[in-house]
Amino acid sequence: MAGKVANPVERKIERAEQRCVNAACGARYGLRERIYVCAKCGETLEIDCHLARPSDPLAVRERWAAAKANPKLPRDASGVWRYQEMLPFDDDAPFVTLFEGNTPLLQAPRSAKYCGLAGLRLKHQGYNPTGSFKDTGMAAAMTQAVISGARTAICASTGNTAASLAAYAARAEFQAAILLPRGQVSAAKLAQSLDYGALVLEIEGNFDDCMRLVQELGDEPSIYVANSINPFRIEGQKTVAFEMMEQCSWRVPDHVVVPGGNMGNSTALGKGFQELLDMGLIARLPKLSVIQAEGAAPVARLFASLSPAQLAGEAELPERLAVVENPKTLATAIKIGAPVSWKKALRAVIRSRGQVISVSEQEIADAKAIIGRDSIGCEPASATTVAGIKKLVAAGHIRRDEDVVAVLTGHQLKDPDYMSNYHRGTLALPVGEKDAKPVHGAFQNAPERVAATKSAILASLKQRH
Ligand SMILES: [Zn+2]
Repeated sequence: MAGKVANPVERKIERAEQRCVNAACGARYGLRERIYVCAKCGETLEIDCHLARPSDPLAVRERWAAAKANPKLPRDASGVWRYQEMLPFDDDAPFVTLFEGNTPLLQAPRSAKYCGLAGLRLKHQGYNPTGSFKDTGMAAAMTQAVISGARTAICASTGNTAASLAAYAARAEFQAAILLPRGQVSAAKLAQSLDYGALVLEIEGNFDDCMRLVQELGDEPSIYVANSINPFRIEGQKTVAFEMMEQCSWRVPDHVVVPGGNMGNSTALGKGFQELLDMGLIARLPKLSVIQAEGAAPVARLFASLSPAQLAGEAELPERLAVVENPKTLATAIKIGAPVSWKKALRAVIRSRGQVISVSEQEIADAKAIIGRDSIGCEPASATTVAGIKKLVAAGHIRRDEDVVAVLTGHQLKDPDYMSNYHRGTLALPVGEKDAKPVHGAFQNAPERVAATKSAILASLKQRH
């Protein structure tokens, strides 16, 4: 067939299906069924791609490398769609793309030293089209939205998800609608969504009301729900594992460390690595560790309470998570008290023998400044990784000479106020409340006033050198 590229993976896509993550339920649904949670038990769903182990795994690696070096199809220029044989879409699917993925793996020597490591690499998902890791998942979710025949995509979000949905919906010629509690969201956070033309609806209610409305609206045939419960988003996001392995020349890192909010990112990475292992493309899993902010750390708390048998994967994990009612952190992208994907993420961490820990606001802020000194900008949530790695090294969970990759999730300019406040010494948690706790800028770099003379400037340069 014209334009058809030889594919070394025997595709089983016709058998791919959605399955309930609750093993005791085990319900399965077709890919085309527009369903966001299990109809039988209400749990979240995941996609089982039924990938077949290729007879020659090296041929798969070679096809991906060739597609990247010399894209023959438009979709090969996307860091998601290049890995199409791993995704639950047919070859002729209406791929929605803004050329997401293709993000760099950056050396971070100062951050490594700060953590007590010989070396550290940062996979920066903030280089995506709208500045966050959400874009890889949204490319897949919006493609599925087009397949579904819907006309409007909705979500309830104040930040990165909203911006990503707005951009991808616009590209797919969909209407995007973003539901928010009235008067509780800053205009700056929504600026990207407004620019991409999304309909922003300020609801007379709280965030829970918005979530409830999104679920109710999901019954409408014309409406597609792109919230975190959407399992297709995990499919797009898992490609970061594939791209990371290519950039590591297929040498599996000892540790991969990610921030933990809704836990979609850790779920996706865990799924991506597991699929590579199942297909014989890698020989072992990296230890996957997740770092939460202290004031929004329900999974880290649960993890700390697990028995040795549970940590070893020999006993059932708890069915329930004690949610944090009023999460508090300046790292807004992970300010989540009831993470949607905690169960899938926790399983991936335990399977790989990783850790889930939390770090303080002070630790996040200082780690962010150190990452900055490596000439790498990121949003505050991303910096939990470096703060967490420092603690994991100190606790002996990561050895000094081990190979560590951390995933940064968002762009530096997602939250410029945070940086400005840190360097000027005005950062505090929680903002505007009477128990506000100042965060000391240990690596503070405030602007300096100087007289309008050459000698004053030279004196300043000499002093700060
Ligand atoms: Zn179920």
